[in-house]
Amino acid sequence: MALILIITPPIFLWIISLCKILLLSRIPFTKHFTQNGRALRKRNILLVIAHPDDESMFFTPTINFLTSRGHNVQILCLSIGDADGKGNIRKQELFQACVALKIPMQQVKMVNHPDLQDGFGKVWNHILLAKIIEEEITSHCIDMIITFDNYGVSGHCNHRDVHYGVCKLLHDTLRKDVEVWELISTNILRKYSGPVDIWLSMFWAMLHSNGTMQCLVNEHYCRSLKAMAQHSSQWVWFRKLFVALSSYTYMNTLRKIK
Ligand SMILES: [Zn+2]
Repeated sequence: MALILIITPPIFLWIISLCKILLLSRIPFTKHFTQNGRALRKRNILLVIAHPDDESMFFTPTINFLTSRGHNVQILCLSIGDADGKGNIRKQELFQACVALKIPMQQVKMVNHPDLQDGFGKVWNHILLAKIIEEEITSHCIDMIITFDNYGVSGHCNHRDVHYGVCKLLHDTLRKDVEVWELISTNILRKYSGPVDIWLSMFWAMLHSNGTMQCLVNEHYCRSLKAMAQHSSQWVWFRKLFVALSSYTYMNTLRKIK
């Protein structure tokens, strides 16, 4: 009896939160994001990530939001994820995941530079990163970048370097034509609270009535799972558990940094 009393409230909260997300995915409350003052404008958006699977582990609510509205999403992955010698397999997995996420393969670019190799302790040069990202902006007329924040969700140094590479580009070029958004890293409790984090995420977003913080809910949960499952070499039990419990599967909170 005591056990039932303990487990019922969290299960109830989980279900109510899932219902809230489902409702928000049908009646979106996000108005400012991507519009930039002009409704229905299609954007050329560059998602900058460090490894194949970052897009499926962390960014699918954002990707699904954008592709559903017809925006042109390009992915720039700054390594092939060769830490375990599986780089070539992981390249293919990223292409397959992007197909599941409705991003054409020709809109996915992977970089395999000797100075940008996957791994903890591998320091990535921010000037080099900025140069590669700028080339991509120019060749695809990018007007919006989305990337990690300075903690990079998991704290992985490659994620953090990607953030600093984007910041370096902003600082050095002072480009006024490119809007930049970062994915907010949350504390461990919020990170593993699954859909329950929707209440706090919405609250923080609503505090920024000027639209500089946006909470995007996942409108295609099954699509996200399908995308993650394409990363067969990474699809081990603890990542399955992560995807099930992670609030990043259900929502993304983005903050405008420029
Ligand atoms: Zn990663």
